Order: sequence, then structure tokens, then C-alpha cells
Amino acid sequence: MHKSIGILLLLLSNYNYFSQITYPTDTLAMGEDSIIIFANKSWEFLEQSNKKMLFNASVYQYAEKQYKWKDKWDTISPYFYGNDLEAFTDTIALPLIDDLHSKFIIPHPGIITSTYKQRGKRFHYGTDVDVVTGDSLKSCFDGVVRYSGYSSGGYGNLVVIRHYNGLETYYAHLDKILVTTNEEVNAGDFIGLGGSTGRSTGSHLHFEMRFFGNALNPQKIIDFKNKKLIDNCIDLHRGLFHYKKKYHYKPSSQQLASKGYHRIKSGDSLYALALKNKTTVKAICSLNGISSTKILKIGEKIRVY
Ligand SMILES: [Zn+2]
Repeated sequence: MHKSIGILLLLLSNYNYFSQITYPTDTLAMGEDSIIIFANKSWEFLEQSNKKMLFNASVYQYAEKQYKWKDKWDTISPYFYGNDLEAFTDTIALPLIDDLHSKFIIPHPGIITSTYKQRGKRFHYGTDVDVVTGDSLKSCFDGVVRYSGYSSGGYGNLVVIRHYNGLETYYAHLDKILVTTNEEVNAGDFIGLGGSTGRSTGSHLHFEMRFFGNALNPQKIIDFKNKKLIDNCIDLHRGLFHYKKKYHYKPSSQQLASKGYHRIKSGDSLYALALKNKTTVKAICSLNGISSTKILKIGEKIRVY
């Protein structure tokens, strides 16, 4: 047992994802801003400040800082609420694998029986894969088990794995769970047996992929038929979160114009817009809180009167 248990307990009271993820330690030195964390089976040194365990730390930090998204390490509840997609206005490139965590393995080779879509009153947040009860299911990337247990929310026996890019995968309706919370897994490790626990009719794997709690369409990321990733990187933007229908509504130019808005096209200038709408550059700038030297971006919506 490590001598620094006092420090550790203090840190654990305030622990988060970064202090939970374990990682090879030989390259990490203890410095003033380093901390000691408890890895699932051993004590390890980890430098908290640079978040080296995440291979997309900059993306992660950006989401936290820019959007105030939270992604705590919660081993009691599989759900996250309150991360505001409304605020998510960028497209960010999220790598799925890197040199250290380079493997992807299909969780199960069965056929898809239901997709990510509105299904009656509920949105179906994942992809259903046909399994026979007792089939072995695999973690699709390297990661750490955040949740393992029965979930009364309909998932039945559920395993949630946090991966090193921040994505989480959910494996639901399991007949049996083979991993424990905080356990490190590699891509391809068996994490449970397929089943039909929870809200399920007939044995199948309900598989979800979430980023900061927001469910993505697994079929946009995984080519299930060919058992490989569609790409090594995904462009993440709120339009991918299809259950938020409002992000798919894009008003036409006419609709915008009737409300005093204009969508910037190639060649537009503030001066031309002012002329066309019988107003002044100054008035447009003040309506939009912009300066007259602002570079207009194509596709951007601007208020003209
Ligand atoms: Zn399902």
C-alpha cells in the first residue's frame, strides 16, 4: 500500500474522470502539480494537470471550457443530464483511435435489428444487434468501466465503458456482466454475455455511443457489416444528435428574409446588404453587435433590419 493514502483520500473526495483513468505511468513524473491516484488494482502516479491519459485532451478541455459541459466519473448512475447541446456551435474533430489505443473491435458480429431513431414516443438512442443469450460481447475500444450493474431505466444489466477519447459505449440487456466498475479493458475484451434483461423483448445487445452524455448514432461511426470503423475520426457537431430535432430545422432564405435575417453567401458585403435592405452598415452592425470590419462567414445568419 502506498504511503500517500492521506493525500489520496482527499483527492478522491473531489475526484473526476481524469483522476480515475489509469494509464502507463512510467513516463509521468511527480511534480508540484501532479497527484497520486488509485488505479483499479494498484497505486499509480498521474499528472493531473496535463491530462495525458486522454489522447484528445484538447478537444475535451475545449468542450468543458467552451460549453461548460460536464463529464464526471459517476459509477452510480449511467446517465448524464444537463450538458447543453444548444451551446454546441462548433464542429470538432474527435479521433476514435490513436497510436496507443489503436484497436477497434466490433462488440458482436450479429445483424442489426433496430437503429438509432424515433421509435413511437421514445427515441431509440442506440443500435440493436441480434444475439443469442450467452453470446460473448466485447469492448469495442480500450477504456475503463465507468458503470457495471443493473439499471432500472430499462437497460437491464448494463456496462458503460469510458474510452480514452472521452466517448462512452453502452452495452445493455446483458444476461451476465463480466467486468467491474473502474476496471481497465482493452478492445476485444469480453465485458458481458448477451441477454434480454431490462426493457427488452428477445435477446439482443442494445449498443450506444455517447459523448458527454449525448447519444450519437453508432452507425455513423461503425460499419457494422464490415466490422470496422467508418473513419478514424468523426466530425462532431450538434446535427449528429438527431433526437434534438430542432437542430435539423434550417430556415430557407425566404423565411429568414421575412424575419429580417439574411444568410451570408459568397460575395456578400455589409455595404451591399445595407443598400439592398435600404438601411446602413452602421445600423446592421449595431443590430448584430459587430464591427463594420467584421469578416462575414458564408452560411452565417445576420440580421439586416
Ligand atoms: Zn435498443
